[in-house]
Amino acid sequence: MDYWYNDFLRSSLRNHFVLEICITDECSLSCKFCCQATVENKYKSHMSIDDIELLSTYINSYEFLVIKISGGEPTIHPKFEQIVLNMRRWFKVHHYTLVTNGQLLLEYSDILDNFDDIEISHYIGINDNIVNQIKKSSINVPIKFIEREDNVSMHNVFSNPNLEKKNIFLRCRYPAWKKVVKNRIYPCSNIFGEAVREKINLDKVSVVIGETWRESLESLNIESYCQNCWVNVSDPIGRACRIL
Ligand code: SF4
Ligand code: SF4
Repeated sequence: MDYWYNDFLRSSLRNHFVLEICITDECSLSCKFCCQATVENKYKSHMSIDDIELLSTYINSYEFLVIKISGGEPTIHPKFEQIVLNMRRWFKVHHYTLVTNGQLLLEYSDILDNFDDIEISHYIGINDNIVNQIKKSSINVPIKFIEREDNVSMHNVFSNPNLEKKNIFLRCRYPAWKKVVKNRIYPCSNIFGEAVREKINLDKVSVVIGETWRESLESLNIESYCQNCWVNVSDPIGRACRIL
């Protein structure tokens, strides 16, 4: 393993690189391999403005480098505009990203420059029309289109490549990417979807956001759940920073 990556794993960046806020777990699509388990999740809802504001009081300025606003599909949140217009006041970070399937994006063209960039998932054969409209639009924010040819080319969230491995959490790149869903914070970006699919008690894999969320998160041990996770920690480790 590269020396720089050892440094990365030991650094505070590993813990606090990206904070993804799933402002809703509702979605306008129903992708079979959704890593958020949108199809299986029976308790979907929007985060309230009060909950997002409260979250912001527990996150220090520049504690994270990046805020990702995501879902489900964030643009179907009824208060999406209010969230976007206040996001930079609530959360002080260096970079703000919107993650979306694009379906309602053009309705919000006027406010999208609050983001530094936008990631659009293009599911070929499913949201082609809106992706083509967005490509022809005059949105003045860098857009990265992530193309998925079909369900098979998405992550297979039902595979278990780590069953025989050890120290998976320590070696995985995804703990650099914390996720907030409702009033809870998760130690990596994928364990929420795993918890929904596997019906794992959320107390085992997340903590309620409050004054002590950092210590509480640090004390969680999700190694046994990593063994059943679809993320292959044998992936070339150097990809971590490019993906994030
Ligand atoms: S568009 Fe994204 S969030 Fe929605 S179901 Fe598909 S993969 Fe999940
Ligand atoms: S293996 Fe899966 S559950 Fe474990 S830290 Fe990585 S992404 Fe999260």
